[in-house]
Amino acid sequence: MDDYMQRIRDGSLKLYALEAELPPDEAISVRRSFIEEETGVSLDILGEYAITTERVTKRNCENMIGAVQVPVGVAGPLRVMGEYADGTYYLPLATTEGALIASVNRGCSAITKAGGAEVRIQRDGMTRAPVFACDSVPHAIEAARWVEEHFSLLADAAAATTSHGRMERITTHIAGTSLYVRFEFFTGDAMGMNMVTIGSEKAAEIIQRETGARLIALSGNLCTDKKPSAANVVMGRGKTVAAGIFLSDAMVKDILKTDAASLAEVNTRKNLVGSARAVSLGFNAHAANVIAAVFLACGQDPAHVVEGSNAITTVDPVEGGVYVAVTLPSLQVGTVGGGSAIETQQTCLQMLGVAGGGEPAGSNAKAFAEIIAAGVLAGELSLLGALAAGHLARAHKKLGRG
Ligand code: NAP
Repeated sequence: MDDYMQRIRDGSLKLYALEAELPPDEAISVRRSFIEEETGVSLDILGEYAITTERVTKRNCENMIGAVQVPVGVAGPLRVMGEYADGTYYLPLATTEGALIASVNRGCSAITKAGGAEVRIQRDGMTRAPVFACDSVPHAIEAARWVEEHFSLLADAAAATTSHGRMERITTHIAGTSLYVRFEFFTGDAMGMNMVTIGSEKAAEIIQRETGARLIALSGNLCTDKKPSAANVVMGRGKTVAAGIFLSDAMVKDILKTDAASLAEVNTRKNLVGSARAVSLGFNAHAANVIAAVFLACGQDPAHVVEGSNAITTVDPVEGGVYVAVTLPSLQVGTVGGGSAIETQQTCLQMLGVAGGGEPAGSNAKAFAEIIAAGVLAGELSLLGALAAGHLARAHKKLGRG
């Protein structure tokens, strides 16, 4: 230990190079000691972890010094009636936000009592959009037309890089002399960002060679990865998934302690008009809460909460009750790759019966997306219900006083 510490101190050994000389847990321990020395803070508690670090230090986390622990709770049972997820689930939620799980749990109870959430995936495709520099506007248009006329050539080039990925669509977009080529891939059970980036690179090289447009960056931000973007809301990214449920007037009264008209009014004035007035991309009450907690528990890329929470919540007054739905245009999830294989996270995926590759490929990731959509619906129902119940209670109080 002392020898390694000394070499780090004198600069002859880089902090990131410890794993080249030591087994991962020892490398982590030396690095933690060095950071303790530098900061004067005891980091012992970060060294208490249950995950194995061989793969994690290679694939998930550079310069690892330990792990933080996020409490995991469950909400459920949650009845889901999807095309890929059909059953009753306990949703693992990793959070430090008190009251979140209790709230989602109440929504799960409402959904399950009402017979289960109906869930469907409308489209599935992960995107990457390289940007090319062209000489002029006519050159940009000419290059875009060439791309559109050569889909098969580009898809075949990308296909050589992956056995599960498949290029399914290309859209082109220009801004003056900049050309953006938005590739969309089916990625099986992987969230797909690495897979799509590798496949897009091959296709981009051909576009550069054949059109003379210069490849500037493999991501030109029209993908759009980890940034709020109307492109994802309109065109979709990852899974576009919707979950809905009919609640009779009696259920709204018994379970949510409100009435259909109050529920619909809260949704319209808050989630629709309020979000429009704020020019928000999220027309929902708190979809990000559920998505972030499931993503942390299940080893998803937490930065994708940005796109995942572009959800729209709708409440349709219908004969005898309301139909409440959430639509998530850009939910990005994977049950293989990324952090999904870390033991604690994989255990949470196993709880949902979706860990690893599905049969056929893609069915586990789709089932997972359907379960998350039902969980978001539970969160929305619970919060909207609480707000509407308060609104109703205030109205009753006022009327009583009047
Ligand atoms: P990945 O781990 O890079 O790729 C998935 C791998 O699993 C592929 O090698 C694939 O093989 C294999 N595989 C085995 N069974 C599969 C199945 N049933 N379905 C699909 N693939 C299967 O995962 P990824 O989802 O593409 O990338 C996730 C990572 O990308 C995360 O760690 C994330 O943080 C990171 N990320 C990268 C970028 C970027 O620009 N590169 C951006 C954002 C995030 P085949 O390819 O041979 O089919």
